Amino acid sequence: MTVGDGCLEAVRRINSRGSCAPHLSISFDSHLFSIDTSRAPKAALQPDAYLITHAHSDHYGKSAMLSQKAVASVQTARALEIRYDREYQGRTFHVGESITVDDVLVDTHPTGHTIGSNAFSWQNEGGERVLVTGDVKDYRHLPKCHFLIMEANYGDPYDPSCIFDDDLAGFSEALDARASFGAYAFGKAQRAVALMRAMGYKDEIGMDEKSLLLTSELMGEAAGPLEPVNGSGINVVTPWNLNMVRSRRKYFLTGRRDSTYPTIQLSDHLDFRGLMRMIEHVSPERVLVYHPQGPRAGLLAHHLQDCGLETTALDCIDRFVR
Ligand SMILES: [Zn+2]
Repeated sequence: MTVGDGCLEAVRRINSRGSCAPHLSISFDSHLFSIDTSRAPKAALQPDAYLITHAHSDHYGKSAMLSQKAVASVQTARALEIRYDREYQGRTFHVGESITVDDVLVDTHPTGHTIGSNAFSWQNEGGERVLVTGDVKDYRHLPKCHFLIMEANYGDPYDPSCIFDDDLAGFSEALDARASFGAYAFGKAQRAVALMRAMGYKDEIGMDEKSLLLTSELMGEAAGPLEPVNGSGINVVTPWNLNMVRSRRKYFLTGRRDSTYPTIQLSDHLDFRGLMRMIEHVSPERVLVYHPQGPRAGLLAHHLQDCGLETTALDCIDRFVR
């Protein structure tokens, strides 16, 4: 995809087997920024920076964190270290700061998806602003842009499960009933703890080891009192550890429909309507849907094309590097 006067271009990398690597780079002016991308092998073309939007595994920070060219927020870097037991090698920033990356002024914007998650934006020499969203729960802090590089986790316009509202009333009711909650250790667990505190729950929350470490380090005092899993108390544990707790009521905090436990809809993402409102908010001239893998990026790209917006998806990029 070539954007504007030709100096903004999206690039993918072919791996040694001839298939596409988990890779997206934006080539502009004399720079090459990789986005949520695994590290390039030594013999391959090297980017000037690996921008990491957050610490979920499908954004490849586990690999990129080992490059000195990694760029991630302080909390994302720390979350990667805790999750993968490796030392983060790149540089860090506080979300909201502007930083200079390879002589380019890059702005960072909170997205409310996980602790430390952020979008990146910068201008090329032609004055076009590129905005890379990562995964988004709250788009209100994102700037206007010319070229939007966005996610589509719930971007299928034909799938009813892509339209949802968080069930805060159900969550509050379950909390009052002293239920325990299944939540993935990074992201959903911190969202659950923050919501419990916002709803006025002040007592200990039991957590399994990784969830406890991530939540206490990343949330600090805002997490309130936490303790190892408490058989008779309120717990937030990874879903497969719900059998460790003795609460009478147990819920999996998810939008998924395949759980053996009853679920409460609580998402870290915008639904389809939210994604469309985000696009309106940042009012791009062109869009690249880059995430997740699978059909949803292409489905959203088709829908945006039908809406008259020049859009492509990662699978349709036809410029490759090795
Ligand atoms: Zn994510």
